[in-house]
Amino acid sequence: MNVKDSRSPLMGQQTKVMALDKMPVTALKGVGPRNAEKLAKIGITSVQDILFHLPFRYQDRTRVVPIGSLRPGDSVVIEGEIELADIRFGRRRSLLVKLADGTGSLILRFFHFSNAQKATLVRGNRIRCYGEIRNGPNCYEMVHPEYQHIDGSDAPAMEEALTPVYPSTDGMHQLSWRGMASRAMAILDARPDSLPEWLPHELLSRFRLPDLAAALSYLHRPPPDAPREALLEGTHPAQQRLAFEELMAHQLSLRDTRLRQKRLNAAVLSPTGQLTVPFMGQLAFRLTAAQQRVLDEISSDLVLDHPMLRLVQGDVGSGKTVVAALAALQAIEAGFQVALMAPTELLAEQHLRVLREWFQRLGLDVSWLTGRHKGRIREQLLADLADGRSPIVVGTHALFQDDVVFNRLGLVIIDEQHRFGVHQRMALRNKGGGEKVPHQLIMTATPIPRTLAMTAYADLDLSIIDELPPGRTPVATVVIPDSRRADVVERVRKACVEGRQAYWVCTLIDESDALQCQAAEDTRLALQEALPELRIGLVHGRLKAAEKEAVMAAFKQGELNLLVATTVIEVGVDVPKASLMIIENPERLGLAQLHQLRGRVGRGAVESHCVLMYHPPLSQNAQQRLGVMRETGDGFVIAQKDLELRGPGEVLGTRQTGEMQFRIADLLRDQPLLDEVQVAAQLLLDDYPERVGPLVRRWIGDRQHYINA
Ligand code: ADP
Ligand code: MG
Repeated sequence: MNVKDSRSPLMGQQTKVMALDKMPVTALKGVGPRNAEKLAKIGITSVQDILFHLPFRYQDRTRVVPIGSLRPGDSVVIEGEIELADIRFGRRRSLLVKLADGTGSLILRFFHFSNAQKATLVRGNRIRCYGEIRNGPNCYEMVHPEYQHIDGSDAPAMEEALTPVYPSTDGMHQLSWRGMASRAMAILDARPDSLPEWLPHELLSRFRLPDLAAALSYLHRPPPDAPREALLEGTHPAQQRLAFEELMAHQLSLRDTRLRQKRLNAAVLSPTGQLTVPFMGQLAFRLTAAQQRVLDEISSDLVLDHPMLRLVQGDVGSGKTVVAALAALQAIEAGFQVALMAPTELLAEQHLRVLREWFQRLGLDVSWLTGRHKGRIREQLLADLADGRSPIVVGTHALFQDDVVFNRLGLVIIDEQHRFGVHQRMALRNKGGGEKVPHQLIMTATPIPRTLAMTAYADLDLSIIDELPPGRTPVATVVIPDSRRADVVERVRKACVEGRQAYWVCTLIDESDALQCQAAEDTRLALQEALPELRIGLVHGRLKAAEKEAVMAAFKQGELNLLVATTVIEVGVDVPKASLMIIENPERLGLAQLHQLRGRVGRGAVESHCVLMYHPPLSQNAQQRLGVMRETGDGFVIAQKDLELRGPGEVLGTRQTGEMQFRIADLLRDQPLLDEVQVAAQLLLDDYPERVGPLVRRWIGDRQHYINA
């Protein structure tokens, strides 16, 4: 039989110090297999996990507040004598108890009560209550307070620390959470080395951070005078200290991923100028300074014998395609193959068209592979890639498939990175043939504030095209309610009659493809009826690729005046003559998506317009978002606002939902820490490399393998 010591936080006897990350939750008294199972569902398996599961708010049960000083909204302890107790039969039967303490009085209201309760809540009895103060019909009230009788001299002691309230899961009570946390803290108090401090003292004092045990102790049992406002916001130094460490761990893990990548071998892609020089000669425009700078950065990566891992950020229309094309030519000149991957067929097709136009003149064939290619065509294509006859292939996810094998894959270009996960990129890594790994160029039109990018993409080098080609005029944007639809239709008519072209974008909350397409078809019919003199086309996700292409081509050649579309046209589509865009229900879309959509106009020299036609009433958040769209066209400003209004998860897309989940840190709230986190991560790498592994394991654990997979 186990000897149990009822005061020991541990079940049974533990002699040797066991690390808390290895100690299962069942080591805590009171946690059996059933609770362990519930905890496992929310990712809590060790005692360390319990300690890192922080309260999200606190109650103050340390002092009794005079009734006369209460304010509505306060959650407080009060004490007093019952002056009156009465049952009311209103709409709902309720027990009303009037409690007074000499400074004032208030009503306690119970909708459910037993006879036994009623019998003790009587005039003259003294009770202590905890609850939230609300405005009642005549005076302040507490509805269903927790209460205890304090008659006589044995009034129970008050709490000594603020009472933590933990985020919970089905069937776990706050009392259980508090019990687990205090037992876990007791273990830590008794054996400080069971949870090692990985941040060196030097670093803690330089960045004014409390040590780990002190921070945890503070957060699980804050003193009565703790600043609850700061704790609620997550800006208290104790919380910031944990967020800091977690952000460091992520930073180090991503850097480690990058370093490992960089230790692999890659082909040296030396430029000969054989293709790039004639290409530049034929190009209808000159590169902007930003394009040239980014191209130089890429070009000098490609001549190294370690794989490039570079992210190019450039706003919509900043001209990323031509930069990618030049990188591809450098690889092809050097005798290697290139794969260019886009997230959708439509976008892949467009790259295909642009590259074919550019490369045919150089005598280069551009191949094309999507999920639709089947049978003999596919076999032939795979054979061409495998024996190296095909120098460049454009495609979708289909390029990730196992049977796609290259002869000498030197460079992988990925457009719109945020839609592909890291693991997908890695899948392409092994297609190089032989020991070598291809260079990777990733392009995104989602501008992300720099500090955030450096944190989220620490496994990549970053280049920014921060300049638009000359001659672009900003898109004038108006926000109007759909009650003025007739005016908008008239505006479309006028524009088209004057020889301009327009997009009409339909959105739906429902993600279902079928409904989206139906809505777009209905809109087209209604518009055609209202505007019989216009030629109106329709594109949506359910059209066959050939049909879509035909419609897009007709629009591009000016055969159509108006293009009704779902948000499929969001990325990349390039029709310079289109200068008016109507977006229906823009309030349903995020800022980044609106920015992408609007980027379809304003590509030519004429002034362009965008009409955001919303359906009232607008939420405050939607009002702000549309206001941002009206006020600025700068992708970086929009990204920053998007971050503020939606949070980093949305802004970063898969980055956040896939491998970048934080337990404590919050990229938005903790942005001010990011610079220091970078410095601290470097310091640890330089001076305490042996601590890097344990720190990353503490916060990222098994997910590290996933990132490195
Ligand atoms: P994005 O960065 O959004 O992918 P694209 O590469 O599609 O942008 O370029 C947008 C348009 O700008 C294309 O029509 C492209 O040919 C044109 N373009 C790119 N670079 C320049 C430049 N330096 N001068 C003029 N036009 C350019
Ligand atoms: Mg593009």
